[in-house]
Amino acid sequence: MAIKYELIKVCKQSGARLGRVHTPHGIIDTPTFMPVGTQATVKTMSPEELKQMDAHIILSNTYHLFLRPGHEIVRQAGGLHKFMNWDRPILTDSGGFQVFSLSNMRKIKEEGVEFRSHLNGDKLFISPEKAMEIQNALGPDIMMAFDECAPYPADHKYVKQSLERTTRWAERCLNSHARPHDQALFAIVQGGMYEDLRKQSAADLTSMDFPGYAIGGLSVGEPKDLMFNMLDVTVPLLPANKPRYLMGVGSPDALLEGSIRGIDMFDCVLPTRIARNGTTMTSSGRLVIKNAKFTEDFGPLDPECSCYTCQNYSRAYIRHLIKADETFGLRLTTYHNLHFLLQLMRDVRQAIMDDRLLDFRDAFFAKYGLFDNDKGF
Ligand SMILES: [Zn+2]
Repeated sequence: MAIKYELIKVCKQSGARLGRVHTPHGIIDTPTFMPVGTQATVKTMSPEELKQMDAHIILSNTYHLFLRPGHEIVRQAGGLHKFMNWDRPILTDSGGFQVFSLSNMRKIKEEGVEFRSHLNGDKLFISPEKAMEIQNALGPDIMMAFDECAPYPADHKYVKQSLERTTRWAERCLNSHARPHDQALFAIVQGGMYEDLRKQSAADLTSMDFPGYAIGGLSVGEPKDLMFNMLDVTVPLLPANKPRYLMGVGSPDALLEGSIRGIDMFDCVLPTRIARNGTTMTSSGRLVIKNAKFTEDFGPLDPECSCYTCQNYSRAYIRHLIKADETFGLRLTTYHNLHFLLQLMRDVRQAIMDDRLLDFRDAFFAKYGLFDNDKGF
């Protein structure tokens, strides 16, 4: 088995779990947040900077690397770790989510999905077997089964058909995976916002012994309460001796509520995407650095933050850089936002160790403030 999950402790107050995932490229302390490096780079950050902020694992996107530069180039480079000079763990998604969200004219068949590249319109095809071939060439420590993430809202009948196909695809992925000894393949539980379908998907997939399980198809526009409700239904059905990964979720409230419900891994483009727009997450809530009130504010972005940005640069300076479209401004806000979420997860792990995660959550929310949008940041 390529990876091993080690349970260290369950928080007596919340039920959250503290653990470690052992991988061929090192240990991941969980619960963890994974910065997203879509095109084999976390936008504007060097691998050295990601290590400095102590990211244990990053995520990269199969769909993007398949289109450009092509998985054979990455294979020739010696795999994704060598290609991008990152020697810690990597997880790649299956490409499914991007095929459905980015590409044009997609056609879903039992065999796979036919689609046109969002870059140049080329007609392409990804099947479960192809998704495995690509990820075996990229060489991440953790790879994902090819799935369909059903849209929201979608009716019961559609979601049922879709999840049953996703289960058949997962089995084909398992059968065509060429490197199970050093790459762990995770299955993705789907089922939309229907409790019975989430249960069906979890039961079918856990009967096939994957090294880890993800929960997909959440944070797709549904109300937060509904997402947490789906987690309440799904997480208890997943094996306790394997990692659980909630896909595409990265707002502070979702990281906290997900951890409390027993999730070990999270990823999201949120911190890096909003950073490039000048929006930062701080201990006292969301801060939009372009606001005029920061013109003469020479204090740090977040007085409580120990990151490189906050130790060295002022709100006024960062505001100036972002307003002037200077790349360094994007680097500073990106560094801070990633550090903020990685620090949040370090705090979550400590709170689990001390059996006080619910207290920690309440104190965090009291300071961070009520979320003024449904994205929760
Ligand atoms: Zn900072």
